[in-house]
Amino acid sequence: MMESFDFPPYRPPSEAYSMLLRVSRGCPWNKCAFCSMYKKYPFSRKSVEEIKRDIDLMPSVYGRGARRVFFGDSNSLLLKADDLVEILNHLYRVFPDLERVTSYARAKTLVKKSPEELRAIRQAGLTRLHIGLESGDDQVLKMIRKGATAAEMVEAGLRTKAAGFECSMYVLLGIGGMKLTMEHRRGTVEVLNQVDPHFIRVRTLTPIPKTPIARWIEEGSFIPVSPLVSVEEELDIVRGLRVTSRFLNDHVSNVVPLDGKLPEEQAQMVAALEAAVAYCREHEVQYSDYRSL
Ligand code: SF4
Repeated sequence: MMESFDFPPYRPPSEAYSMLLRVSRGCPWNKCAFCSMYKKYPFSRKSVEEIKRDIDLMPSVYGRGARRVFFGDSNSLLLKADDLVEILNHLYRVFPDLERVTSYARAKTLVKKSPEELRAIRQAGLTRLHIGLESGDDQVLKMIRKGATAAEMVEAGLRTKAAGFECSMYVLLGIGGMKLTMEHRRGTVEVLNQVDPHFIRVRTLTPIPKTPIARWIEEGSFIPVSPLVSVEEELDIVRGLRVTSRFLNDHVSNVVPLDGKLPEEQAQMVAALEAAVAYCREHEVQYSDYRSL
């Protein structure tokens, strides 16, 4: 039974204890210059009937005690609203006590869904959307081939919240490289302040071999930021935020572990980042030392 269940290859760290349900396979975009996640998983759709069969298998895979589900793979909002509602209705029939159902969603896809469609999906029980912002600067977004503008990121975040979802946005430190680090800081603060997402989750760029960014670094056209600059970026971002979000560095790539509520814990976060900046300056931490910090 386990062998025939279609597990998604990835989920956010916050979904470590969630049941995983694959509603599509791979990434329909698959062009972001830093990302290798779905390169070996070609995009394909699944029929609603196939997904319902997977849901019927879930009690034998996960038992009946879990209260959370994550939808894989990279952009479940690509499904038709009616299909998502049918899938969610079936899921809640099998697991009536669910507390949270979440998914990744691309901003570009979100802005193509009508407010009515988004509300219907939310009312059927999808509760939280994880959106990859990466940067709020248009030059950076274009360079990394994110396929969405800063304005679309804002619209996607606001539509998500207006429909009643919890909105979780991901920021990628270092994604502008040395050349666009200041633009990256400014634009990211602007987008986050306009959206005020429920969660801001931070990762630090880790160049993956064979991705365009790794190639640009080899060629010398992209100068990666040092750990010091990545922490300075985060410090500027945290200082500039006027939001009511939970702010988390919940990933191994980050230099400083942070998890706190804004604005209540903003001063403590700024202090922790200032201390890290001072440490990096004092010890002249280099890019190659990154992993051992
Ligand atoms: S970052 Fe997201 S949208 Fe971009 S290629 Fe990777 S999975 Fe696809």
